[in-house]
Amino acid sequence: MERFSTDESFAAELDAADPLAPFRARFHGPPGTIYLLGNSLGLPSLDAEAAVARAMQQWRELAIGGWLDADPPWFWLAETLGARAAALVGAAPDEVVCTGTTTYNIHSLVATFYRPAGRRTRILGCALEFPTDLYALCSQIALHGLDPAEHLVLVGAAEDGLVREEDLIAGMTEEVALALLPAVLYRSGQLLDVARLAVAAGERGIPIGFDCSHSAGVVPHRLDAWGVDFAVWCGYKYLNGGPGAPAFLYVARRHFERGPGLAGWFGCVKERQFDLAPDFEHARSAGGWQVSSPGILGAAAVDGALRVLEEAGIERLREKSLRLTEYLIRLADARLADAPYGFRVATPRDPARRGGHVALTRAADALRIKEALRRRGVIGDFRPPDTIRFAPSPLSTSFRDLYAAVRHLREVIDGGEHLRIDPQRRAVS
Ligand SMILES: *Cc1c(COP(=O)(O)O)cnc(C)c1O
Repeated sequence: MERFSTDESFAAELDAADPLAPFRARFHGPPGTIYLLGNSLGLPSLDAEAAVARAMQQWRELAIGGWLDADPPWFWLAETLGARAAALVGAAPDEVVCTGTTTYNIHSLVATFYRPAGRRTRILGCALEFPTDLYALCSQIALHGLDPAEHLVLVGAAEDGLVREEDLIAGMTEEVALALLPAVLYRSGQLLDVARLAVAAGERGIPIGFDCSHSAGVVPHRLDAWGVDFAVWCGYKYLNGGPGAPAFLYVARRHFERGPGLAGWFGCVKERQFDLAPDFEHARSAGGWQVSSPGILGAAAVDGALRVLEEAGIERLREKSLRLTEYLIRLADARLADAPYGFRVATPRDPARRGGHVALTRAADALRIKEALRRRGVIGDFRPPDTIRFAPSPLSTSFRDLYAAVRHLREVIDGGEHLRIDPQRRAVS
């Protein structure tokens, strides 16, 4: 963005030049709101809604017959969706499957790749990672009879709040048996250099996995080319698959023989699954890491949602996402930094280090300001202790939405609206 202006007419100009603007009409959303939480729960598309209605109809009309005769057939749906999502992350079609949930898939893949032996007993993680990932890692360590306090090694942020790749690499010692890191950090929106970290881990013989929950669908990856061993991401953030949607996992082809650490009948070689034999033979694909029957109604929503992303194309999504976040950062610098607003942009300004959302921090009252905004119909969220996150969706957010969100934010503070709000957090914030 060479030019920049704080005028509303400039936002309108950016909207007029936006090739993805027509996608807005493909989404529902809470009426009268500016929805900036696509990184937490993406909006429902008309396509997702239609796909669920269709799955219901096929359940009605085909019942059990739907496993083979539905369109698309339910028996292969997890693999089919995985093959389509593979294009978003630079994987081969059979290296991705739509299954489980993010935390569950972390358990399954850590159970596969974490083999503490000799001096190599530790797991390397990031202290700023979303806590569920760390909970899962601690319990996996404990399952091996080891002490998580000693065996989970966490690398934190430098002074500026950002995580340094060199610090993570310095943590890849001869005592590390596995690394699990975020691609984009959930609070700051920092994008790590996945390629560099994967190469460094590979050189040290450490299997490395990435949680791409905050990047899949908005930041293109090249998991194969970078030599990543495994990855997980959820279906309900930028993928817009619906609340609690089935998630995704990636296993690099070179690990197919190894087989899942946690086995279940849907991981069987497809042709033999209904032999119902007592011995388990896993499919030589990411599908081998499935455990249970796929939830077809949830997967149907993902099917419809993916169609919209495919039409837009991941490169165009990234391009628009970067323009939206750059516009928001520049507007925040110009209009929210000085007193009495006092916001600081905590997200990297370098586009190569930025995911899909923008974090604004403020020394006091961030939670109450977020709540005052919500009452005005501007939906962001609060992450303790001092962060408000805004995630513009490249499919459904306009530049004018961001202009208006910043205007509302100033008006909240100008009028002291937040000071009249009870500082209690709601159960989901
Ligand atoms: C959203 C998110 C999750 C979600 O976990 P679920 O198991 O789907 O509830 C996990 N990890 C990260 C990093 C996330 O951003």
